[in-house]
Amino acid sequence: MTATATAADTRTRVLVVDDDAETAAVVAAALRRAGFAPTIADGSAAITPENLQHSNIIVLDLLMPGRDGLQVLRDLAEQGCDAGILLASSVDVRILAAAERLATGRGLRLMGSLRKPFEVSELLDVITSPIPDAPRKASTEAPRPKFSADEIRGGLERDEFIVHFQPKISVKTLEFVAVEALARWAHPEKGLQAPGAFIDTAEKSGLIGMLTEKVIHEAFHQCAEWLDSGLRLKVAVNVSTRSLGNYDLPEWFEEQTRSAGILPHQVVIEITESWLGNDPLAMLEILTRLRMKGFSLSIDDFGTGYSTMLKLKTIPFSELKLDQQFIRDAAGDAEARYIVESSIALGQKLGLHLVAEGIERQEDWDLITELGCDEGQGYFIARPMNGQDVPHWLRRWMAYLGQD
Ligand code: C2E
Ligand code: MG
Ligand code: MG
Repeated sequence: MTATATAADTRTRVLVVDDDAETAAVVAAALRRAGFAPTIADGSAAITPENLQHSNIIVLDLLMPGRDGLQVLRDLAEQGCDAGILLASSVDVRILAAAERLATGRGLRLMGSLRKPFEVSELLDVITSPIPDAPRKASTEAPRPKFSADEIRGGLERDEFIVHFQPKISVKTLEFVAVEALARWAHPEKGLQAPGAFIDTAEKSGLIGMLTEKVIHEAFHQCAEWLDSGLRLKVAVNVSTRSLGNYDLPEWFEEQTRSAGILPHQVVIEITESWLGNDPLAMLEILTRLRMKGFSLSIDDFGTGYSTMLKLKTIPFSELKLDQQFIRDAAGDAEARYIVESSIALGQKLGLHLVAEGIERQEDWDLITELGCDEGQGYFIARPMNGQDVPHWLRRWMAYLGQD
Protein backbone atom coordinates (compact mmCIF):
# COMPACT_ATOMS: atom_id res chain seq x y z
CA MET A 1 0.00 0.00 0.00
CA THR A 2 1.33 3.45 -0.89
CA ALA A 3 2.05 5.92 1.87
CA THR A 4 1.13 8.90 -0.28
CA ALA A 5 -1.72 9.29 -2.67
CA THR A 6 -1.36 11.84 -5.42
CA ALA A 7 -3.72 12.82 -8.16
CA ALA A 8 -1.25 11.44 -10.66
CA ASP A 9 -1.35 8.01 -9.08
CA THR A 10 -4.21 6.30 -10.90
CA ARG A 11 -3.85 3.24 -8.73
CA THR A 12 -5.02 5.11 -5.65
CA ARG A 13 -8.26 3.38 -4.85
CA VAL A 14 -10.83 5.33 -2.91
CA LEU A 15 -13.83 3.76 -1.21
CA VAL A 16 -16.62 6.30 -0.82
CA VAL A 17 -18.93 5.13 1.96
CA ASP A 18 -22.08 7.24 1.94
CA ASP A 19 -25.77 6.34 2.08
CA ASP A 20 -26.63 9.52 0.12
CA ALA A 21 -26.35 8.38 -3.49
CA GLU A 22 -26.22 11.91 -4.86
CA THR A 23 -23.26 13.04 -2.69
CA ALA A 24 -21.46 9.77 -3.37
CA ALA A 25 -21.87 10.23 -7.12
CA VAL A 26 -20.58 13.82 -7.04
CA VAL A 27 -17.58 12.82 -4.94
CA ALA A 28 -16.80 9.82 -7.14
CA ALA A 29 -17.02 11.89 -10.34
CA ALA A 30 -14.65 14.52 -8.93
CA LEU A 31 -12.20 11.85 -7.83
CA ARG A 32 -12.31 10.12 -11.18
CA ARG A 33 -11.58 13.43 -12.94
CA ALA A 34 -8.61 13.89 -10.62
CA GLY A 35 -7.20 10.48 -11.57
CA PHE A 36 -8.35 8.37 -8.63
CA ALA A 37 -10.18 5.07 -8.85
CA PRO A 38 -13.28 5.49 -6.70
CA THR A 39 -15.77 2.83 -5.65
CA ILE A 40 -19.08 3.84 -4.16
CA ALA A 41 -20.39 1.88 -1.22
CA ASP A 42 -23.90 2.42 -0.03
CA GLY A 43 -23.42 2.35 3.73
CA SER A 44 -21.44 0.38 6.21
CA ALA A 45 -22.19 -3.08 4.80
CA ALA A 46 -19.42 -2.35 2.28
CA ILE A 47 -16.75 -2.47 4.97
CA THR A 48 -15.71 -6.02 4.18
CA PRO A 49 -12.16 -7.35 4.47
CA GLU A 50 -11.99 -7.64 0.64
CA ASN A 51 -13.04 -4.03 0.09
CA LEU A 52 -10.60 -2.84 2.72
CA GLN A 53 -7.75 -4.74 1.16
CA HIS A 54 -8.44 -2.94 -2.09
CA SER A 55 -8.72 0.59 -0.71
CA ASN A 56 -5.97 3.11 -0.15
CA ILE A 57 -8.34 5.79 1.08
CA ILE A 58 -11.82 5.67 2.60
CA VAL A 59 -14.14 8.67 2.46
CA LEU A 60 -16.54 8.04 5.30
CA ASP A 61 -19.90 9.63 6.00
CA LEU A 62 -20.90 9.72 9.67
CA LEU A 63 -24.69 9.73 9.52
CA MET A 64 -25.76 6.45 7.97
CA PRO A 65 -28.60 4.06 8.73
CA GLY A 66 -27.51 0.72 10.18
CA ARG A 67 -24.00 1.15 11.52
CA ASP A 68 -23.06 4.82 11.65
CA GLY A 69 -19.65 6.29 10.88
CA LEU A 70 -18.37 6.02 14.45
CA GLN A 71 -19.25 2.34 14.63
CA VAL A 72 -17.57 1.90 11.25
CA LEU A 73 -14.41 3.56 12.61
CA ARG A 74 -14.39 0.95 15.37
CA ASP A 75 -14.90 -1.85 12.80
CA LEU A 76 -12.04 -0.46 10.71
CA ALA A 77 -9.71 -0.33 13.67
CA GLU A 78 -10.63 -3.89 14.67
CA GLN A 79 -9.89 -5.09 11.16
CA GLY A 80 -6.47 -3.43 11.25
CA CYS A 81 -7.35 -1.03 8.42
CA ASP A 82 -4.36 1.02 7.30
CA ALA A 83 -6.08 3.07 4.60
CA GLY A 84 -6.19 6.86 4.90
CA ILE A 85 -9.51 8.02 6.35
CA LEU A 86 -11.35 11.15 5.34
CA LEU A 87 -14.47 11.99 7.33
CA ALA A 88 -17.19 13.82 5.46
CA SER A 89 -20.40 14.77 7.18
CA SER A 90 -22.95 17.48 7.81
CA VAL A 91 -22.84 17.00 11.58
CA ASP A 92 -22.01 19.83 13.98
CA VAL A 93 -18.30 20.81 13.97
CA ARG A 94 -17.83 19.63 17.57
CA ILE A 95 -19.22 16.21 16.68
CA LEU A 96 -16.90 16.11 13.69
CA ALA A 97 -13.96 17.05 15.95
CA ALA A 98 -14.94 14.28 18.39
CA ALA A 99 -15.10 11.82 15.48
CA GLU A 100 -11.57 12.89 14.47
CA ARG A 101 -10.35 12.22 18.02
CA LEU A 102 -11.99 8.79 17.93
CA ALA A 103 -10.34 7.94 14.61
CA THR A 104 -6.86 8.87 15.74
CA GLY A 105 -7.48 7.45 19.22
CA ARG A 106 -8.28 4.11 17.60
CA GLY A 107 -5.00 4.22 15.69
CA LEU A 108 -6.49 5.00 12.25
CA ARG A 109 -4.64 7.12 9.68
CA LEU A 110 -6.87 10.18 9.60
CA MET A 111 -6.27 12.49 6.63
CA GLY A 112 -8.81 15.09 7.69
CA SER A 113 -12.49 15.90 7.81
CA LEU A 114 -14.84 17.90 5.64
CA ARG A 115 -18.11 19.44 6.64
CA LYS A 116 -20.86 18.92 4.04
CA PRO A 117 -21.57 20.69 1.79
CA PHE A 118 -17.96 21.08 0.70
CA GLU A 119 -16.30 22.27 -2.49
CA VAL A 120 -14.61 19.75 -4.77
CA SER A 121 -11.38 21.72 -4.33
CA GLU A 122 -11.52 21.16 -0.56
CA LEU A 123 -11.97 17.45 -1.11
CA LEU A 124 -9.01 17.31 -3.49
CA ASP A 125 -6.87 19.31 -1.09
CA VAL A 126 -7.30 16.71 1.63
CA ILE A 127 -7.27 13.63 -0.53
CA THR A 128 -4.05 14.56 -2.32
CA SER A 129 -2.23 15.23 0.93
CA PRO A 130 0.09 12.51 2.24
CA ILE A 131 -1.57 9.84 4.36
CA PRO A 132 -0.18 10.34 7.86
CA ASP A 133 1.46 7.50 9.74
CA ALA A 134 -0.81 5.57 12.08
CA PRO A 135 -0.91 7.31 15.48
CA ARG A 136 -0.19 5.30 18.57
CA LYS A 137 -3.45 3.88 19.87
CA ALA A 138 -4.72 5.67 22.96
CA SER A 139 -4.90 3.15 25.72
CA THR A 140 -8.41 2.70 27.08
CA GLU A 141 -7.10 0.84 30.10
CA ALA A 142 -5.50 2.47 33.10
CA PRO A 143 -1.74 1.90 32.95
CA ARG A 144 -1.08 -1.43 34.59
CA PRO A 145 0.63 -1.13 37.94
CA LYS A 146 4.17 -2.31 37.48
CA PHE A 147 4.69 -3.38 41.05
CA SER A 148 2.70 -5.48 43.50
CA ALA A 149 1.75 -4.27 46.97
CA ASP A 150 4.33 -6.66 48.48
CA GLU A 151 7.10 -5.21 46.31
CA ILE A 152 6.10 -1.67 47.28
CA ARG A 153 5.99 -2.62 50.96
CA GLY A 154 9.49 -4.10 50.59
CA GLY A 155 10.70 -0.88 48.94
CA LEU A 156 9.24 1.20 51.76
CA GLU A 157 10.81 -1.03 54.40
CA ARG A 158 14.20 -0.81 52.70
CA ASP A 159 13.78 2.99 52.52
CA GLU A 160 14.11 3.12 48.73
CA PHE A 161 11.58 5.90 48.20
CA ILE A 162 12.96 9.40 47.65
CA VAL A 163 11.53 12.81 46.83
CA HIS A 164 12.08 14.96 43.78
CA PHE A 165 11.20 18.64 43.66
CA GLN A 166 9.79 20.64 40.77
CA PRO A 167 10.07 24.46 40.85
CA LYS A 168 7.03 26.75 40.71
CA ILE A 169 7.56 30.27 39.43
CA SER A 170 5.63 33.47 40.08
CA VAL A 171 4.09 34.52 36.78
CA LYS A 172 4.30 38.22 37.62
CA THR A 173 7.84 38.44 39.02
CA LEU A 174 9.40 35.25 37.59
CA GLU A 175 10.65 34.61 41.10
CA PHE A 176 11.23 31.02 42.25
CA VAL A 177 8.58 30.75 44.97
CA ALA A 178 7.79 27.11 45.64
CA VAL A 179 8.48 23.47 44.88
CA GLU A 180 6.17 20.50 44.49
CA ALA A 181 7.44 17.35 46.22
CA LEU A 182 6.96 14.29 44.01
CA ALA A 183 7.53 10.70 45.14
CA ARG A 184 10.10 8.56 43.30
CA TRP A 185 11.18 5.00 43.90
CA ALA A 186 14.92 4.50 43.51
CA HIS A 187 14.45 0.84 42.57
CA PRO A 188 17.74 -1.06 42.97
CA GLU A 189 17.26 -3.10 39.76
CA LYS A 190 14.74 -1.20 37.66
CA GLY A 191 16.01 2.33 38.20
CA LEU A 192 14.11 5.45 39.14
CA GLN A 193 10.33 4.94 39.06
CA ALA A 194 7.70 7.70 38.72
CA PRO A 195 4.45 7.59 40.72
CA GLY A 196 2.54 6.04 37.81
CA ALA A 197 4.29 2.78 38.64
CA PHE A 198 3.26 2.58 42.29
CA ILE A 199 0.81 5.24 43.58
CA ASP A 200 -2.34 3.47 42.49
CA THR A 201 -1.36 0.15 44.08
CA ALA A 202 -0.11 1.96 47.18
CA GLU A 203 -3.49 3.64 47.50
CA LYS A 204 -5.54 0.51 46.94
CA SER A 205 -3.46 -1.58 49.33
CA GLY A 206 -3.40 0.94 52.17
CA LEU A 207 0.34 1.61 51.82
CA ILE A 208 -0.24 5.21 50.74
CA GLY A 209 -0.22 6.42 54.36
CA MET A 210 3.31 5.11 54.90
CA LEU A 211 4.47 6.61 51.61
CA THR A 212 2.86 10.00 52.28
CA GLU A 213 4.50 10.15 55.73
CA LYS A 214 7.87 9.38 54.21
CA VAL A 215 7.51 11.99 51.43
CA ILE A 216 6.25 14.70 53.78
CA HIS A 217 8.96 14.05 56.34
CA GLU A 218 11.67 14.33 53.72
CA ALA A 219 10.10 17.30 51.92
CA PHE A 220 9.71 19.33 55.13
CA HIS A 221 13.28 18.62 56.24
CA GLN A 222 14.59 19.58 52.83
CA CYS A 223 12.60 22.80 52.98
CA ALA A 224 14.08 23.58 56.41
CA GLU A 225 17.58 22.95 55.06
CA TRP A 226 17.02 25.42 52.22
CA LEU A 227 15.65 27.92 54.72
CA ASP A 228 18.85 27.60 56.76
CA SER A 229 20.85 28.45 53.67
CA GLY A 230 18.70 31.53 53.01
CA LEU A 231 16.34 30.05 50.43
CA ARG A 232 12.72 30.52 51.49
CA LEU A 233 10.41 28.31 49.46
CA LYS A 234 6.89 27.07 49.93
CA VAL A 235 6.63 23.30 49.59
CA ALA A 236 3.63 21.54 48.07
CA VAL A 237 2.91 17.93 48.98
CA ASN A 238 0.39 15.62 47.37
CA VAL A 239 -2.15 14.01 49.65
CA SER A 240 -4.68 11.62 48.28
CA THR A 241 -8.19 11.80 49.72
CA ARG A 242 -7.75 8.16 50.73
CA SER A 243 -5.31 9.38 53.36
CA LEU A 244 -7.86 11.78 54.76
CA GLY A 245 -9.79 9.43 57.04
CA ASN A 246 -7.77 10.21 60.14
CA TYR A 247 -9.13 12.94 62.41
CA ASP A 248 -5.67 13.55 63.90
CA LEU A 249 -4.16 14.48 60.54
CA PRO A 250 -4.08 18.27 61.24
CA GLU A 251 -2.15 17.66 64.48
CA TRP A 252 0.16 15.25 62.65
CA PHE A 253 0.90 17.87 59.98
CA GLU A 254 1.49 20.51 62.62
CA GLU A 255 3.91 18.22 64.44
CA GLN A 256 5.77 17.48 61.21
CA THR A 257 6.30 21.19 60.48
CA ARG A 258 7.34 21.85 64.09
CA SER A 259 9.88 19.06 64.20
CA ALA A 260 11.33 20.04 60.79
CA GLY A 261 11.50 23.73 61.74
CA ILE A 262 9.19 25.23 59.12
CA LEU A 263 5.84 27.00 59.43
CA PRO A 264 2.41 25.79 58.24
CA HIS A 265 2.05 28.77 55.92
CA GLN A 266 5.06 27.46 53.96
CA VAL A 267 3.13 24.28 53.19
CA VAL A 268 0.63 23.69 50.39
CA ILE A 269 -1.35 20.47 50.60
CA GLU A 270 -2.43 19.40 47.12
CA ILE A 271 -5.48 17.20 47.32
CA THR A 272 -5.48 14.57 44.58
CA GLU A 273 -8.05 11.92 43.59
CA SER A 274 -11.76 11.81 44.19
CA TRP A 275 -13.47 11.61 47.52
CA LEU A 276 -15.63 8.79 46.34
CA GLY A 277 -16.14 6.25 49.09
CA ASN A 278 -14.87 8.56 51.81
CA ASP A 279 -16.86 10.19 54.58
CA PRO A 280 -17.44 13.74 53.30
CA LEU A 281 -18.05 15.20 56.75
CA ALA A 282 -14.81 13.74 58.13
CA MET A 283 -12.96 15.15 55.15
CA LEU A 284 -14.61 18.54 55.52
CA GLU A 285 -13.60 18.71 59.18
CA ILE A 286 -10.01 17.54 58.58
CA LEU A 287 -9.38 19.88 55.66
CA THR A 288 -11.00 22.87 57.33
CA ARG A 289 -8.91 22.33 60.48
CA LEU A 290 -5.76 22.17 58.31
CA ARG A 291 -6.72 25.57 56.88
CA MET A 292 -7.34 26.94 60.36
CA LYS A 293 -3.86 25.86 61.34
CA GLY A 294 -2.39 27.93 58.50
CA PHE A 295 -1.78 25.29 55.82
CA SER A 296 -2.76 26.12 52.22
CA LEU A 297 -5.09 23.71 50.50
CA SER A 298 -4.91 23.18 46.77
CA ILE A 299 -7.37 21.37 44.54
CA ASP A 300 -5.02 19.42 42.24
CA ASP A 301 -5.75 18.52 38.61
CA PHE A 302 -8.69 20.90 38.55
CA GLY A 303 -11.22 20.00 35.90
CA THR A 304 -10.60 16.25 36.01
CA GLY A 305 -11.96 13.69 38.40
CA TYR A 306 -15.07 13.45 40.43
CA SER A 307 -17.41 16.31 41.45
CA THR A 308 -14.82 19.03 41.10
CA MET A 309 -17.37 21.83 41.43
CA LEU A 310 -18.96 20.29 44.49
CA LYS A 311 -15.54 19.98 46.12
CA LEU A 312 -14.75 23.59 45.27
CA LYS A 313 -18.01 24.76 46.80
CA THR A 314 -17.73 22.69 49.96
CA ILE A 315 -14.07 22.68 50.98
CA PRO A 316 -12.24 25.90 51.92
CA PHE A 317 -9.52 25.53 49.30
CA SER A 318 -7.04 28.39 49.00
CA GLU A 319 -5.48 27.35 45.69
CA LEU A 320 -6.67 25.95 42.39
CA LYS A 321 -4.24 23.95 40.29
CA LEU A 322 -5.22 23.69 36.65
CA ASP A 323 -4.66 20.30 35.15
CA GLN A 324 -1.83 19.95 32.65
CA GLN A 325 -4.09 18.32 30.08
CA PHE A 326 -6.05 21.56 29.53
CA ILE A 327 -2.91 23.68 29.53
CA ARG A 328 -1.27 21.39 26.97
CA ASP A 329 -4.23 21.69 24.59
CA ALA A 330 -5.20 25.31 25.23
CA ALA A 331 -2.82 26.95 22.78
CA GLY A 332 -4.29 25.10 19.80
CA ASP A 333 -7.75 24.00 20.88
CA ALA A 334 -10.56 26.47 21.47
CA GLU A 335 -12.50 24.24 23.90
CA ALA A 336 -9.47 23.61 26.12
CA ARG A 337 -8.76 27.34 26.11
CA TYR A 338 -12.35 28.12 27.19
CA ILE A 339 -11.97 25.63 30.04
CA VAL A 340 -8.69 27.25 31.13
CA GLU A 341 -10.16 30.76 30.82
CA SER A 342 -13.29 29.97 32.74
CA SER A 343 -11.43 27.98 35.42
CA ILE A 344 -9.16 30.99 35.97
CA ALA A 345 -12.13 33.38 36.05
CA LEU A 346 -13.87 31.10 38.55
CA GLY A 347 -10.75 30.85 40.70
CA GLN A 348 -10.35 34.63 40.65
CA LYS A 349 -14.00 35.13 41.71
CA LEU A 350 -13.45 32.72 44.59
CA GLY A 351 -10.26 34.54 45.59
CA LEU A 352 -8.05 31.48 45.02
CA HIS A 353 -4.35 31.39 44.27
CA LEU A 354 -4.06 30.08 40.71
CA VAL A 355 -1.39 27.64 39.62
CA ALA A 356 -0.97 26.14 36.16
CA GLU A 357 0.96 22.89 35.74
CA GLY A 358 2.31 21.26 32.60
CA ILE A 359 3.77 24.44 31.07
CA GLU A 360 5.81 22.90 28.27
CA ARG A 361 6.11 25.65 25.68
CA GLN A 362 6.48 29.39 25.35
CA GLU A 363 2.87 29.66 24.15
CA ASP A 364 1.60 27.91 27.31
CA TRP A 365 3.52 30.42 29.41
CA ASP A 366 2.21 33.35 27.34
CA LEU A 367 -1.34 32.10 27.76
CA ILE A 368 -1.23 31.78 31.54
CA THR A 369 0.45 35.19 31.77
CA GLU A 370 -2.27 36.73 29.64
CA LEU A 371 -5.05 35.08 31.64
CA GLY A 372 -3.65 36.14 35.00
CA CYS A 373 -2.40 32.95 36.66
CA ASP A 374 -0.27 33.43 39.77
CA GLU A 375 2.19 30.57 39.44
CA GLY A 376 3.43 28.26 36.70
CA GLN A 377 5.09 24.85 36.81
CA GLY A 378 6.25 22.63 33.99
CA TYR A 379 9.09 21.32 31.85
CA PHE A 380 9.39 24.73 30.17
CA ILE A 381 10.69 26.02 33.50
CA ALA A 382 12.24 22.94 35.08
CA ARG A 383 11.78 19.20 35.38
CA PRO A 384 11.51 17.58 38.81
CA MET A 385 15.00 17.16 40.34
CA ASN A 386 16.56 15.94 43.54
CA GLY A 387 16.87 18.29 46.50
CA GLN A 388 20.63 18.89 46.15
CA ASP A 389 20.16 20.11 42.58
CA VAL A 390 17.62 22.80 43.50
CA PRO A 391 20.16 25.48 44.62
CA HIS A 392 22.18 24.87 41.41
CA TRP A 393 19.05 25.22 39.35
CA LEU A 394 18.21 28.46 41.19
CA ARG A 395 21.63 29.88 40.28
CA ARG A 396 21.05 29.07 36.61
CA TRP A 397 17.57 30.58 36.80
CA MET A 398 18.89 33.79 38.37
CA ALA A 399 21.57 33.97 35.67
CA TYR A 400 18.90 33.50 33.04
CA LEU A 401 16.94 36.40 34.55
CA GLY A 402 20.11 38.46 34.67
CA GLN A 403 19.96 38.69 38.45
CA ASP A 404 23.07 36.80 39.48
P1 C2E B 1 0.50 15.91 40.06
O1 C2E B 1 0.40 16.23 41.51
O2 C2E B 1 -0.48 16.55 39.14
O3 C2E B 1 2.00 16.26 39.66
C1 C2E B 1 2.39 16.78 38.45
C2 C2E B 1 2.92 15.71 37.54
O4 C2E B 1 3.13 16.30 36.26
C3 C2E B 1 4.26 15.14 37.96
O5 C2E B 1 4.34 13.81 37.49
C4 C2E B 1 5.23 15.99 37.15
O6 C2E B 1 6.48 15.37 36.95
C5 C2E B 1 4.48 16.12 35.86
N1 C2E B 1 4.84 17.30 35.10
C6 C2E B 1 5.28 18.48 35.56
N2 C2E B 1 5.49 19.35 34.59
C7 C2E B 1 5.19 18.71 33.43
C8 C2E B 1 5.20 19.08 32.06
O7 C2E B 1 5.53 20.22 31.67
N3 C2E B 1 4.80 18.15 31.17
C9 C2E B 1 4.42 16.93 31.55
N4 C2E B 1 4.04 16.07 30.58
N5 C2E B 1 4.38 16.52 32.82
C10 C2E B 1 4.76 17.42 33.77
P2 C2E B 1 4.74 12.64 38.45
O8 C2E B 1 5.88 13.03 39.32
O9 C2E B 1 4.86 11.43 37.59
O10 C2E B 1 3.49 12.51 39.39
C11 C2E B 1 2.27 12.03 38.92
C12 C2E B 1 1.21 12.12 39.98
O11 C2E B 1 1.50 11.23 41.05
C13 C2E B 1 1.13 13.49 40.66
O12 C2E B 1 0.42 14.34 39.82
C14 C2E B 1 0.40 13.14 41.94
O13 C2E B 1 -1.00 13.03 41.72
C15 C2E B 1 0.94 11.74 42.24
N6 C2E B 1 1.96 11.82 43.28
C16 C2E B 1 3.26 12.16 43.17
N7 C2E B 1 3.87 12.11 44.39
C17 C2E B 1 2.92 11.75 45.28
C18 C2E B 1 2.90 11.54 46.69
O14 C2E B 1 3.89 11.70 47.40
N8 C2E B 1 1.70 11.19 47.26
C19 C2E B 1 0.55 11.05 46.51
N9 C2E B 1 -0.56 10.71 47.12
N10 C2E B 1 0.55 11.22 45.18
C20 C2E B 1 1.69 11.58 44.58
MG1 MG C 1 0.22 17.72 42.62
MG1 MG D 1 -1.72 17.90 38.85
